[in-house]
Amino acid sequence: MRYVDEFRDPELIMKASEEIGRLSNPARHYRIMEVCGGHTHAIYRFGLKDILPENIELIHGPGCPVCVLPMGRIDDGLLIAKEPNMIFAAFGDMMRVPGASGSPLEHKARGADVRIVYSPADALELARKNPDKEVMFFAIGFETTAPSTALTLMSAMKQGIRNFSVFCNHVTIVPAIRAILDSPDMRLDGFIGPGHVSTVIGCRPYEWIAKAEGKPVVTSGFEPLDLLQSIIMLLKQLESGEAKVENQYKRVVPWEGNRAALKVMAEVFELRPYFEWRGLGFISQSALRIREKYATWDAERRYTVPETRVTDPKAAQCGEVLKGVLKPAQCKLFGKECTPEHPIGALMVSSEGSCAAYYNYEYRKSLVTSINAVA
Ligand code: SF4
Repeated sequence: MRYVDEFRDPELIMKASEEIGRLSNPARHYRIMEVCGGHTHAIYRFGLKDILPENIELIHGPGCPVCVLPMGRIDDGLLIAKEPNMIFAAFGDMMRVPGASGSPLEHKARGADVRIVYSPADALELARKNPDKEVMFFAIGFETTAPSTALTLMSAMKQGIRNFSVFCNHVTIVPAIRAILDSPDMRLDGFIGPGHVSTVIGCRPYEWIAKAEGKPVVTSGFEPLDLLQSIIMLLKQLESGEAKVENQYKRVVPWEGNRAALKVMAEVFELRPYFEWRGLGFISQSALRIREKYATWDAERRYTVPETRVTDPKAAQCGEVLKGVLKPAQCKLFGKECTPEHPIGALMVSSEGSCAAYYNYEYRKSLVTSINAVA
């Protein structure tokens, strides 16, 4: 299959791994952050960590939009779900994410009308088919998914569908990277740049990281060879003392981004002055809100939103894991109180969460190995 099989070729993977071994300086310890949760999953799923030299440490970044959403936003959204005749629509990824008052699925069990949709357009269709109901779409995601929310709002306006609204939780990736770089407890050598977000924003927004911070960035695809090639590109820069932005994922990511997608986002959204991120606190201009022109479809204007502030359970170390300060298994609750079956934090349930990735691909493997050893 084109664009999959050739990027999983075992022979090429071993050659890339050997080249990484040749390029890396054994006297140096490299700390490379993969910003995107999709990369974290690929790294664990394909066992890439096992074929890298020990002095190359991959640090998981904050690129999982479900994980970085503070519990209070989930509670605020679920409060709206209690409005009369309300259908709460969200992606499946959100359904088991805990708020302080429970997850959307738990609210469904208590009687709320909670539905999984595969796109914001599906939520709009629900509203069109149920004119006697209100439908609120819980919008979440980086710039990757924001254009489809924007297009749906434009479509709601065009079709005059007024029993539809959006609770907007879209966030932007660059301010989060800036917050990580400003963090005093974080030392990084370079970044594997996000693949999905970059299909929309392109590579140019990362140039300051190379110019002002002196850290190389390589935007990467999600297959094993993509990631290994990105590490090779980063090592070449690091060893030659360079810092620039490179695009390994040229087959998908245009350097200048997707102008049409950026245009619809600019039509519908504006930057919030600040937004709270789990683990990173309040970051200025790091999230989107719906423009006045689309106020009719803005759930935050239509309903009472108390702006709930909830602190994570004391022992949960989601914030440190999101910042890359701790590895998932270093959280005190990992694999004990917090598992995919009984998640305490969103990182354990989201398809892009680093705790879920580590649990499903590394931890389960080690459990099987120890059970086999005992048997
Ligand atoms: S193991 Fe659970 S509580 Fe700990 S960081 Fe991961 S999601 Fe959060």
